[in-house]
Amino acid sequence: MRPNQARNNTMKIGILDLQGDVSEHLEITQKALDNLNIKAQAEKIRTAQETSDCDAIIISGGESTVIGQLIVETGIKDIIIQKKIPVFGTCAGMVLLATETDYEQPLLGIIDMKVKRNAFGRQKDSFEQEIEIFGDKYPGVFIRAPAVEKVGKETQIISQLEDTIIGVKQGRNIAISFHPELTTDTRLHEYFIKEVLNCAE
Ligand code: GLN
Repeated sequence: MRPNQARNNTMKIGILDLQGDVSEHLEITQKALDNLNIKAQAEKIRTAQETSDCDAIIISGGESTVIGQLIVETGIKDIIIQKKIPVFGTCAGMVLLATETDYEQPLLGIIDMKVKRNAFGRQKDSFEQEIEIFGDKYPGVFIRAPAVEKVGKETQIISQLEDTIIGVKQGRNIAISFHPELTTDTRLHEYFIKEVLNCAE
């Protein structure tokens, strides 16, 4: 599918602004676009209409049960699925991309995986640890982070912390357990943007 880029020549990345650490994602996405020298808009989105105009969407950390309920009520879930808009989900965002979790809650179900919420413990068990993706090291900030328990055949594992899966990709959808938006490292946002652009024809 050709992204909306064709419409007005400006790619639009929507940062889902229903709940969670949205401003940090907006800021780091803008930096990533600057680093890549890509002329694109990154902006907060709250409605199905705004979602519909996006070439890609980022779902932040926060409370996945709340965000899940709101994407259903606003019709945002239907638009993402119908238009196959690529999504990058961090932490609670990872949970929402899953087809299954250990808890009954509304999900997007666009990465074939089972996710366990709060897999590393509670808020007080939050930690920072260097992690590895495609051979490169990244700072990992884990806050009530989920982990992937099971993946389907089409789902690629991109990062593990010892035996625990903390990063996956299916098509242009990417989910990670941790919070790059709480660091100054823009590389994962750049990676997502490049993935979206690579499928631009
Ligand atoms: N545990 C939260 C959830 O499942 C996610 C926490 C976070 O995004 N920092 O919604």
